[in-house]
Amino acid sequence: MPDTEAGRRHRLRDRLAALDADAVLVTRLVNVRYLTGFTGSNAALLLTADDAVLATDGRYVLQSAAEAPDVERVIDRRCGPALLARAVARGARRVAFEAHDVTVEGLESLRAAAEPVELVALGHAVEDLRQVKDPGEIALLREACAMGDRALADLLPTVRPGQTEREVARRLEELMRDHGADAPAFDTIVAAGPNSAVPHHGPTDRPLERGDFLKLDFGARHRGYHADMTRTVVVGKHVEAWQEDLYVLVRAAQRAGREALVPGADVRDVDAAARTVIHDAGFGEHFSHGLGHGVGLEIHEAPLLGYEATGILAAGTPVTVEPGVYLPGRGGVRIEDTLVVRDDGPELLTLTTKELLTLG
Ligand code: ZN
Ligand code: ZN
Repeated sequence: MPDTEAGRRHRLRDRLAALDADAVLVTRLVNVRYLTGFTGSNAALLLTADDAVLATDGRYVLQSAAEAPDVERVIDRRCGPALLARAVARGARRVAFEAHDVTVEGLESLRAAAEPVELVALGHAVEDLRQVKDPGEIALLREACAMGDRALADLLPTVRPGQTEREVARRLEELMRDHGADAPAFDTIVAAGPNSAVPHHGPTDRPLERGDFLKLDFGARHRGYHADMTRTVVVGKHVEAWQEDLYVLVRAAQRAGREALVPGADVRDVDAAARTVIHDAGFGEHFSHGLGHGVGLEIHEAPLLGYEATGILAAGTPVTVEPGVYLPGRGGVRIEDTLVVRDDGPELLTLTTKELLTLG
């Protein structure tokens, strides 16, 4: 999609003037991918007012030509310094770089390659551009979310007491691949019984028991785009009253969070919409994380929805809404959807029911 990437580079160029810089050096691989289409593991991009040059190493000669046909390419293992030296040789005096990506050592080699260039921080300019997705990106996210929905629909009828968290996680990841995922978007979380009270529990050999909450947080990666969904179910047919109450509370908070997703909303207010429901029920201290996050080329990206976050939502931004209440020693519930902020109400991408399911 060269036109898409060219349009993105064009929008980044607008920042050049604001920074009074002659060039931008992009070194974060995910940002290089966003701006060029190149997916290799070693790359940098130099952008000037009328030029775009991609550097990568000898392993990627053919791949870079295929994936990024509309930019000039330089083959040099030391991508950043090579591009910076080239910019200086062509007269650049002030170059913006991704200070949040470059190590202390990396900065020394950039300086050594390009005396006496002035390096200024670009900030998170590319990450900011990436927040609002184009229709092609949203289509990929929609497909990724559908793979997760289908995998879960296949999995749930096969879950039995006695299976371990690890077995369930492995099976869920296998099913996502069966439905077309390139890989899991992140390490699948399967947490049963008391383990469900740990927000980011890694699956263990603990067998599922009748009466457990079973929390599944997972997603498919599809052509670089990451889906994210959590559902909490009960193993066995019997649901205790406290489980029902907790589930209904988290579901109400999650709905409040989803309904707060409107263009122009402050991300803190979206968080507050869900958090207030949990706080007012007396469980505020047991909701120990932010409400959600952007998804796209990374599983966690801007914007963050949290009580300490800053930012305003724009239409076309995919985010998760994932409140949870975790009762130590007993169990926890998290319900998470991926949605897209829209003018006429959020578009839900993860379609699995949020009714409390009982298994077996
Ligand atoms: Zn998740
Ligand atoms: Zn998430």
